[in-house]
Amino acid sequence: MMRGAVAGAEPGTFMPDWNAEPSTLYVVATPIGNLADLSARASEVLRTVTWVAAEDTRQTRKLMAHLGAGARLRSLHRGNEARTVPALVRSLRTTGASGALVSDAGTPLVSDPGRWLVEAALRAGIAVVPLPGPCAVVAALSVAGLDAARFVFEGFLPARAVARRRRVAELACETRTWAVYEAPHRIRALAGDIKEVLEPDRQVAWVRELTKRHEEAWRGAVGELDPERIPERGEFVVVVEGAGEEAGVPDQDLDAFLEPLLEAGLGVRTAAALARDCLGAAHKAAYARALALKR
Ligand code: SAM
Repeated sequence: MMRGAVAGAEPGTFMPDWNAEPSTLYVVATPIGNLADLSARASEVLRTVTWVAAEDTRQTRKLMAHLGAGARLRSLHRGNEARTVPALVRSLRTTGASGALVSDAGTPLVSDPGRWLVEAALRAGIAVVPLPGPCAVVAALSVAGLDAARFVFEGFLPARAVARRRRVAELACETRTWAVYEAPHRIRALAGDIKEVLEPDRQVAWVRELTKRHEEAWRGAVGELDPERIPERGEFVVVVEGAGEEAGVPDQDLDAFLEPLLEAGLGVRTAAALARDCLGAAHKAAYARALALKR
């Protein structure tokens, strides 16, 4: 029977009063804004584990105080992982302690620290148990109105302008929906890159401050996106529709058609429009192909 399952109940039914098991590392998702989003199971585990490894102990202390939880807080961030991870794994293995890994907000390891602790715990044969919950990219995908059956999450794009634009150009050919995190002081620059590089009819959404007082979402076509109207405050996720699959036009035919046009100096947009009109190719696919050839 799985940990926490109710004896005799349907598989997957969990007891409401769920306690931490010894020698177990729990990877606990915490709210991305609204404290009510912490699951009952996560509250219970944070109250009963021996220690909580936190990205920023000041931040997690507030959550623990809200829960009335007294577990010892251990600081775990990129700068001290090499020193702290072995000590935490030793405590799980030799003292039978139970531990929880949290980040400042959302799901640990998703653009957040914790990977080395999870890896080391697994290598040491320790049970690593997820407590799923809030995650900004998943929340954004759930309201973006785009295909989320398959998607690509890119985390943060490069901060430097040239590298970021190059990455957006590479992503232009991605046929799955893609999503990125962005900081408020770079959101307009990213929106500018998207507008510059992607076809105007591609759908895009930005969401900010999910689950918080100033939660906001915008959805529309790239051509309607106005970078200057995006507030430069709060936390953002940007979700972009993937490039369409080519509509029955084989790659080599598309390339043979596009290459001479691009060599002759035609812009990517114009060449793609011609491929659509002359070959019947899907515009998004022709655009992505032309962009790749141009590079
Ligand atoms: N581990 C977290 C998760 O599961 O979503 C992500 C941590 S990452 C360091 C922080 C980024 O996530 C922010 O810069 C922002 O792009 C995004 N983010 C976090 N909270 C958010 C929120 N409430 N609304 C929109 N985006 C958010």
